Amino acid sequence: MKSKLLLVRDVVTLNERNDIFHDYAVEINDGRIERIAPSKDVNIRNFKGDVLDFSNCTLIPGFVQTHIHLCQTLFRGLADDLELLDWLQKRIFVYESKHTKNSLRASVRLGLHDLLTGGTTSILDMGTLHHQEVIFEELISSGIRAFAGNCMMDQNDLYPAFCEPAEWNINSTYSWAKEFHNSNNGKVKFGFAPRFVLSCSENLLKETKEMMKDFPLSMFHTHSSENKSEVETVRKMTGKENVEYFESIGILDKHTVLAHCIHLNDNEIITLKKNDVRVSHCPSSNLKLGSGIANIPRYISEGISVSLGADGAPCNNGLSAFNEMRLSALIQKSIHGPTAMDALTVLRLATIEGAKALHIQDEVGSVEVGKMADLVLLNLEKADQPIQSNINGATFIDSSIYSSIVYSASKENVKLVLIDGEIVVKDGRCFKYDEEGIIADGKVELSGILKT
Ligand SMILES: [Zn+2]
Repeated sequence: MKSKLLLVRDVVTLNERNDIFHDYAVEINDGRIERIAPSKDVNIRNFKGDVLDFSNCTLIPGFVQTHIHLCQTLFRGLADDLELLDWLQKRIFVYESKHTKNSLRASVRLGLHDLLTGGTTSILDMGTLHHQEVIFEELISSGIRAFAGNCMMDQNDLYPAFCEPAEWNINSTYSWAKEFHNSNNGKVKFGFAPRFVLSCSENLLKETKEMMKDFPLSMFHTHSSENKSEVETVRKMTGKENVEYFESIGILDKHTVLAHCIHLNDNEIITLKKNDVRVSHCPSSNLKLGSGIANIPRYISEGISVSLGADGAPCNNGLSAFNEMRLSALIQKSIHGPTAMDALTVLRLATIEGAKALHIQDEVGSVEVGKMADLVLLNLEKADQPIQSNINGATFIDSSIYSSIVYSASKENVKLVLIDGEIVVKDGRCFKYDEEGIIADGKVELSGILKT
């Protein structure tokens, strides 16, 4: 791949010092960031490669989302205004159980298009019960960095037709993990994904954790403590709260991502901290399903890993990291006051903290020399966001950049998205997909599902 030189107005590094540089150049070679320097110090004329002049734009790391359901994108708008267990029972389990390979492919493509055009370059996806190979094929061809795995279910009182015996889950998971863990030159890794306590026997959860030993650097990904009815049912089933139950069967450690973690007692919060568990916070989903508001400021102050995820399209209804950032800040302010969840904290959750949650922080999550060039260029100089550089000193300018990204920007501000230094999105157009084609395919596949 040809070298690239990006000329930008600001570099928002999100490194340990949260450096922001103005009027800078970023050189990319072999997919990695090789140099970050003032534009005036770079010999632009003699640069052997592509010079990309975005000197009115702001460069940030690509977003990392740690809880996504690509298989549900096709069902956007078909499961609104329901409580979690009804949402699963009446809609999501019904639709997911009807997925064919083709409908799943259509759903995943729509989801990836939504994510990439919004600047998300790394995800942790919870797949579905069947046809998981389709999701991996699409992840690989899209070029996105991903952890993914089939959604395991060996019991399902809500919708009994949608589960498989434990042995089937274990065998098929093992063979998918063998085939796809570390595929696409290590960009795609396996994320073992038992759905939640209610759909998994204790044996399945334990066997899954055991399997992970054969797949170093894989993740364990499940839902926890999302909804009061779910928590009550788990209590009836196990005699314990979700996190206490997970700890009692030995599945909590730094390779575990728990989505939601809204309804936790003090002991569960201590348990998360003690076991270095990662919390994936999904504010849109939590608000839309009326599940509640996780005490994210407390988790952060306790030193618990927190990152962001859009969850599935039917409980959101979009996959943009900008929505999740804005909401994650706003929902806490009515409880903890306006100083809670400032813009910089939130932007770090959506980038470097997501990378740390997945143990890929040496590769992505910030704009630093040596890291992969998973980058997003934002044009924040739109008419409704006239942020001014070069006035009033750097402190004001820098905080206004964080504010603009978190509180004002949306995917419409995304000018360019690069993964491994390759341009995947430019001016809203994703080079990996024919947008009209995937929408047309989606319509055909969705009508097939709704007819059956
Ligand atoms: Zn979810």
